[in-house]
Amino acid sequence: MGARYSIYADWNPWHGCTKISPGCKYCYVYRQDEMYSSATQSSLCRKTGAFDLPIRKKRDGSYKIDPGKIVFTCFTSDFLLKDADPWREECWRMIKKRSDCYFYFFTKRIDRLAQCLPPDWGSGYENVIIGCTVENQDRADFRLPIFLDLPIRHRSIIASPLLEALDLRAYLDPDKIEELSTGGESGVQARPCDYDWILSLRQQCVEKDIAFRFHQTGAHFYKDGKYYRIRRRDQLAQAAKANIDYRISDYYLPEKVAKSLHFQPDTPEQTTFLDDEKGAV
Ligand code: SF4
Repeated sequence: MGARYSIYADWNPWHGCTKISPGCKYCYVYRQDEMYSSATQSSLCRKTGAFDLPIRKKRDGSYKIDPGKIVFTCFTSDFLLKDADPWREECWRMIKKRSDCYFYFFTKRIDRLAQCLPPDWGSGYENVIIGCTVENQDRADFRLPIFLDLPIRHRSIIASPLLEALDLRAYLDPDKIEELSTGGESGVQARPCDYDWILSLRQQCVEKDIAFRFHQTGAHFYKDGKYYRIRRRDQLAQAAKANIDYRISDYYLPEKVAKSLHFQPDTPEQTTFLDDEKGAV
């Protein structure tokens, strides 16, 4: 599996976030801060020591983040958080400078994007992928019309943590949405996810020929009416075992993006979904 992850890098220019919607209830940033007994409240957003990581260099003069990486950006906050407005412009400059990498961020604040864009954004930077997060029908109906209207080159819908069945047919425009990725919620208090909700989203994507990915089961999972409690370390693997991804490359990227990056595929692993009675309770 290791090689699959060698194409990724993380960049968290700031840390901390405020909760704004039902999907935030058991936010992993808060859970991780609690686990590590952070002295600072999770709701207080602050710049990190890695703020300028994309343009930092090694002794030999090359960038610390190698060319060609998918850089997961701002995963311990929200890139469009209002508290971070004073710092974002510098981030856009770094992103533009590193046009040899893709920068991928998820947001629950897509309604703020228009006011957060740099002046030269135009129809979008080619190297920026934006994931609009939706967790229930109400938030999907609010965020996705805005998302579709914005000038963005690469759009993903992140239906996670999936809290109920969703009908996203009105928003699945194959000319604009490159991928839908979905999964359940992690953590001790996680709300349950039903496999039927996942399969419904898959069907909606297949009908529109949009790439679909089931990225994790979450901690409490129903399949065929049977309840499973799934350990954190097994949640990604169990979703992969379902083997229901559609038009997703071996690097867990939408085919369109993967093709442009010219990666060599790994050999997929052969496993079975929820075949292990240890997972059932
Ligand atoms: S927007 Fe994301 S990072 Fe911010 S509180 Fe909600 S779940 Fe956490």
